[in-house]
Amino acid sequence: MDVGFLGLGIMGKAMALNLLRSGFRVTVWNRTLSKCQGLVELGASMGETPAAVVSKSKYTIAMLADPIAALSVVFEKGGVLEQICEGKGYIDMSTVDADTSLKINEAITNKGGKFLEAPVSGSKKPAEDGQLIILAAGEKELYDAAIPAFDVLGKKSFFLGSVGNGANMKLVVNMVMGSMMNALSEGLSLAGSSGLSQQTFLDILDLGAIANPMFKLKGPAMIQSSYPPAFPLKHQQKDMRLALALGDENAVSMPVAAAANEAFKKARSLGLGDLDFSAVHEIVKVIGSSGEAK
Ligand code: NAP
Repeated sequence: MDVGFLGLGIMGKAMALNLLRSGFRVTVWNRTLSKCQGLVELGASMGETPAAVVSKSKYTIAMLADPIAALSVVFEKGGVLEQICEGKGYIDMSTVDADTSLKINEAITNKGGKFLEAPVSGSKKPAEDGQLIILAAGEKELYDAAIPAFDVLGKKSFFLGSVGNGANMKLVVNMVMGSMMNALSEGLSLAGSSGLSQQTFLDILDLGAIANPMFKLKGPAMIQSSYPPAFPLKHQQKDMRLALALGDENAVSMPVAAAANEAFKKARSLGLGDLDFSAVHEIVKVIGSSGEAK
């Protein structure tokens, strides 16, 4: 099957590679075109623009940073809209808000194309292992057609109904994740400041009812102040911001998420945005020790 892939960042590169390895004929594009080279060497074709990719592909998948990126790849010169037409599908797997997704849906379907939003839960490693959780919504026919690709990319896909539901579900999930990361940071700081072993604290967490893969994976690296980016902090803050806006829209009070967002914002302002989102620990450490980082 011919599949286009737009956006070869941490997630997109791993996902496009899995499709290629599973026998899909993949045409790739990335804003920084040089990042296509590795995949081209492994057998992918390259399009010079998003429109060129869509012209070659029955289905085109996008995995882009944020709403600005998702909109620009569709609407700007050389964008998806120039070539999308009846018989073609566009699947945006980026994490964006429902409004962004609805705008893209309207433009694509006005041109006769089919649209699906399909953000994912899971990070760099699940992307590499084809173990993502796919939260799809939009055109059911396109969802059914995309199942062979989703089976390669993920361990489970959900069809959540109309456009916006996938985007919103993803934001709710990441809002919880961002709050949990802040709670873990505070726990590590409090344990350390109280003279307790941070590793023993993690071991105890891991044996109890609040054990989870994220604490297990990130905790030991956080003790070492090591934050190689799997999920960049700037994207987590974007997700908190969009989730809080969803809370505003629905009059849902979310003081825990709002506080977590402030910590992620502070981390961005200190230049930590390209590190893993667990680098929020550096902010919590500073706040938690009255200005004395440990
Ligand atoms: P990333 O490594 O930062 O990659 C971002 C991609 O977006 C790159 O291909 C980048 O192109 C492109 N881009 C940025 N601004 C653009 C613009 N204005 N126009 C066109 N392209 C643009 O991010 P990622 O971690 O792969 O995440 C991608 C999406 O998946 C985000 O929405 C993120 O929230 C979501 N997500 C990430 C994870 C994770 O753990 N990493 C997990 C689940 C969901 P350049 O290479 O030219 O900069």
